[in-house]
Amino acid sequence: MDPTWLVLLSLALGLVVGAGFVWLLHAAASRSSRATEIASPTVPDGVDQVLEALPTAGVVVDPSNNVVRASAGAYSLGLIWNAVLSQPRLVELADEVRRTGEPVAEDLELARSTLGDATVQLNVRVARLGSRYILILADDRTEAVRLEQVRRDFVANISHELKTPIGAISLLAEALESAADDPEQVRHFAARLTREAGRLARLTQDIIDLSRLQAAETVPHAERVSIDHVVAAAVDQNRVLAESRRIQLAVGRRSHAVVFGDEGLLTTAVHNLVSNAVRYSPDRSRVGIGTRLHDGVVEITVTDQGPGIAPEELDRVFERFYRVDPARSRATGGTGLGLSIVKHAVQNHGGEVRVWSRPGSGSTFTIRLPEAEHLSHGPLRQRPLEQGERTT
Ligand code: ADP
Repeated sequence: MDPTWLVLLSLALGLVVGAGFVWLLHAAASRSSRATEIASPTVPDGVDQVLEALPTAGVVVDPSNNVVRASAGAYSLGLIWNAVLSQPRLVELADEVRRTGEPVAEDLELARSTLGDATVQLNVRVARLGSRYILILADDRTEAVRLEQVRRDFVANISHELKTPIGAISLLAEALESAADDPEQVRHFAARLTREAGRLARLTQDIIDLSRLQAAETVPHAERVSIDHVVAAAVDQNRVLAESRRIQLAVGRRSHAVVFGDEGLLTTAVHNLVSNAVRYSPDRSRVGIGTRLHDGVVEITVTDQGPGIAPEELDRVFERFYRVDPARSRATGGTGLGLSIVKHAVQNHGGEVRVWSRPGSGSTFTIRLPEAEHLSHGPLRQRPLEQGERTT
């Protein structure tokens, strides 16, 4: 064949193959663009922005309950799995709204799938979005529900704790009345009456202190406070009690440290630690109170030679009304709120409380506070926990 024909023929063949190839590419591309549309259909204008701005988790589903839009919060709450609603109750609510056209609201407790058996408390609102979609908004109320439970427990505990001294006072008043002719008995009941009234007064004061501390996150009237003053006042307040039990209060050297805070609150915190150390120590033992300044942190340490606290109780002693030995706490005039007050007072000053204790070896409680000059240098400088030490 003429070579010119050969060249023309191969050119024509090349053109046909090339055109076919281009057509194939075009067909594939248009198919894939249709697929994108299906996977991400258009929802009413502004929905994306609203979902992004909302503090609540939001999900938009289509008529088959496929998720077409969702905020990041919806994923982290575990509402979505593989582009569908993961919680059957949400599917039911979406179907109901689609059927009736009426919005619904409901409180739900759902299993947080990623966190084992942890649950999440949600307030869910479901409504139509245009004629085709359903909008689901979910408010995470887990923390609010927990706080409400804590508050209810506190009130229940308070009622229980108040009933004991109030009951005792009214019984003692009756006994006093019927023993009016016996001066010995009258003196005995009057002394017990005074003790119970004292317990009631301490309990009321501790409840007021703790409620105030919990209501605020910081200290309302902060000023420069000398830690040496705080320690001296707290030790003085415990001197009579310590002397009556022949317990030596050994105070270390002055630190000249200054913190920014509320002197009254800090004195109460140190007082509670010294008071516990004295109350739980055997007669004729020694309680040490030391202060040191290290790396912008003031540490106030109270050490005793008392019975110590078992490791499994150590984390719990800072809880309100938690006592390792309720009878002993009661006998020594405890309210069960002392350490809880210490913890909140110190935390409100940007500090922490640490405890080291071993049954039979006594306990050491340490209050750590940022020194006034270092306050603007960020959070409290950390010191690694020593062996067996816990922090609040
Ligand atoms: P309480 O008024 O009962 O002393 P706290 O809140 O001060 O209440 O302390 C909680 C519990 O922690 C106490 O009941 C006691 O069992 C334990 N505890 C506190 N301080 C000491 C300590 N220094 N030594 C031994 N146990 C202590």
